[in-house]
Amino acid sequence: MEIFIFFGPPGAGKGTQAKKFALKYGFKHISTGELLRQEIIAGTDLGQTAKQFMADGNLVPDELVIAIIDEQLKEQAKWPGFVFDGFPRTHKQADSLDEIATQNGQTIKKVIYMEADESGLIERLLKREKIEGRLDDTEATIKNRFNIYHQQTEPVLDHYRRQGKFVAIDATGSVEEVEARIEAEYEKVIKD
Ligand code: AMP
Repeated sequence: MEIFIFFGPPGAGKGTQAKKFALKYGFKHISTGELLRQEIIAGTDLGQTAKQFMADGNLVPDELVIAIIDEQLKEQAKWPGFVFDGFPRTHKQADSLDEIATQNGQTIKKVIYMEADESGLIERLLKREKIEGRLDDTEATIKNRFNIYHQQTEPVLDHYRRQGKFVAIDATGSVEEVEARIEAEYEKVIKD
């Protein structure tokens, strides 16, 4: 059982690429953002709690997110691998994932860091607001999400750099171009 992590700033295309990657290789795609949005729609207590954090562009408390991941990993027997999208986002989450993975005999194979220039990303997110109407893609919230990303999430990369699991992908260009870069990287991992 292998775990791949799609990592990067808001709007880098993590969701799009993580989904394609999971589909292509038969892995389970796990997006904490999507799971949280489903909890909100279902009107659960967890959704109620998460909603305000998300609407303001803040992180949902670690305990809640880790509980969601724990639940998802219970399905492990059915899948040859997992693709995490938007998780982990804090040191605490990264440490918990290491623990859970070790307990379950799972290995974190690679962290795919999607790298792109911030001004282009902000434009992309504002466009998404028009198309999808996501409640956290407004200008003030986007700014806060970038601040939080730099303060709490970006430093998590060092965790994986130290473990030699980090690979940077140029996330600019078309969806197909980025997909091809990721595929080339995956081929290398297989050959490792
Ligand atoms: P995303 O769909 O990945 O952009 O996530 C949307 C929002 O969901 C984030 O801005 C956070 O408020 C929340 N969220 C998603 N994943 C996490 C996580 N791993 N830790 C904390 N909050 C999260």
